[in-house]
Amino acid sequence: MINVTVWNEHIQDKSDEAVIKVYPDGINACIAGFLGKDEELNIRCATQDEPECGLPDEVLDNTDVLIWWAHCGHADVPDELVSKIQDRVLRGMGIILLHSAHYSKIFQRLMGTTCSLKWREGDRERIWNINPNHPIAKGIGEFIYLDVEEMYGERFDIPQPDELVFLGWFGGGEVFRSGCCWNRGLGKVFYFQPGHETSPTFHNKDIQTVITNAVHWAAPEKIQAEPIDAPWSESPEKILNENK
Ligand code: ZN
Repeated sequence: MINVTVWNEHIQDKSDEAVIKVYPDGINACIAGFLGKDEELNIRCATQDEPECGLPDEVLDNTDVLIWWAHCGHADVPDELVSKIQDRVLRGMGIILLHSAHYSKIFQRLMGTTCSLKWREGDRERIWNINPNHPIAKGIGEFIYLDVEEMYGERFDIPQPDELVFLGWFGGGEVFRSGCCWNRGLGKVFYFQPGHETSPTFHNKDIQTVITNAVHWAAPEKIQAEPIDAPWSESPEKILNENK
């Protein structure tokens, strides 16, 4: 089983009528709902309004893949928690950052850049599948079309992705690196651009397939117990003799 924690700041989806209409039980509940149909996944939800932002050590220590949706509350996530998440990614935990999570502290920490981008509400998007043999694109056709989605445009201030899976195109002609993969330490990172809070994006079957695929892709073989460190090594002669 893959232990997945779906983390959502859960601010607009309990206070803004336009968001509640699309996600009446919260964005996290919608994501947990479709992931829960996959019998290999063990899903738990966590929200920022819970004690320790819903991520006390016992939750984080039992998470193989963390999904992160956030928008208004980035600044209120404690730096200490960001450091703990970063440490766990470096030891092997997978992390998937959705849409406005581009400005989350944890994404900026993992990327080392501002992660800024160009944006405009109320556009439409064609998400081109430019890496169809990638495991995250399994089951996706030539493109995914979204009637309503926020435009996110280049330049997206990120380090070059290790792998690019999707390229977004918008009505204004803007393009965007919409599905990006990186390795950080022993962990895998996936950023996926669609998912504006007033758009029904997470109800779209193709979007659900991509996020489910990304969980399987990001799931680690194992998570190293100790922090990454620089161990002292024996002399070459001793290593060679011991392995004779
Ligand atoms: Zn948005």
